[in-house]
Amino acid sequence: MRDPEIIDIASVQPKAGLGANFDSPTYPTLRFSTKCRILGDPSPQAIEPTDPSFVNDGLRQATLTREGHRCVFCGFYSSQNEVHNVNDNHRDMQPENLRSIDSLCHGWQHLGELGNGNAVIAYVPGLRGQDVNHLQRTIMVASQSDDPGLRDDAKTLLNWLASHRDYTTEAWGTHDPRVFGDALVKLNEEAREKREVLFQNLAVIFNPESYRQQVTAWVGESYRAFPTNQWARVYHDVMNAPA
Ligand SMILES: [Zn+2]
Repeated sequence: MRDPEIIDIASVQPKAGLGANFDSPTYPTLRFSTKCRILGDPSPQAIEPTDPSFVNDGLRQATLTREGHRCVFCGFYSSQNEVHNVNDNHRDMQPENLRSIDSLCHGWQHLGELGNGNAVIAYVPGLRGQDVNHLQRTIMVASQSDDPGLRDDAKTLLNWLASHRDYTTEAWGTHDPRVFGDALVKLNEEAREKREVLFQNLAVIFNPESYRQQVTAWVGESYRAFPTNQWARVYHDVMNAPA
């Protein structure tokens, strides 16, 4: 190591690439949540507000337009993105409580409302929640490809991901998201604030059948620049790129 005293500070030039990543936005931690239970809610399973003013007054569209249809958690763009109530209270329609969100990140916020058979909780250490969702989206797009080989690969990868539910069952006694949703409702405020530690490395793995409509839209939007028939070439180029 060089002695710091003999470095001529004036001659030190920052590396050209320094700060290049400062432009990438930082996203909030993607953590588990569920909708606040409000007495008299006519649609307890709804994942967007059901108040007529939300749709009729254009609040829904205004939120999505303001945010450019990008997910607040992962930045994914889609015309199919939804509106999330940040504090989980679907009666609170203050603009700051309404954010654009993609359907997978939204699923993480609605464990109690996911419905039977639509998802499992899996133990996936080492991957950020957002990356698990990017991976699942790619798997869903591949599983609707015309290429049978790619569809097979997608199935293998999804089965591998979903098989991690066994670890959750072993440690928690269940992999049903609705049970986790019920538990979240019962947590006191202090424990609820620590939920990302409590549920660390757990991820929601979705049943692709529930997202067919969204996938069709994704193929024509964000994935249009990367059609599945070019994935093998892209993979080859990346793996053989000069160091
Ligand atoms: Zn997202």
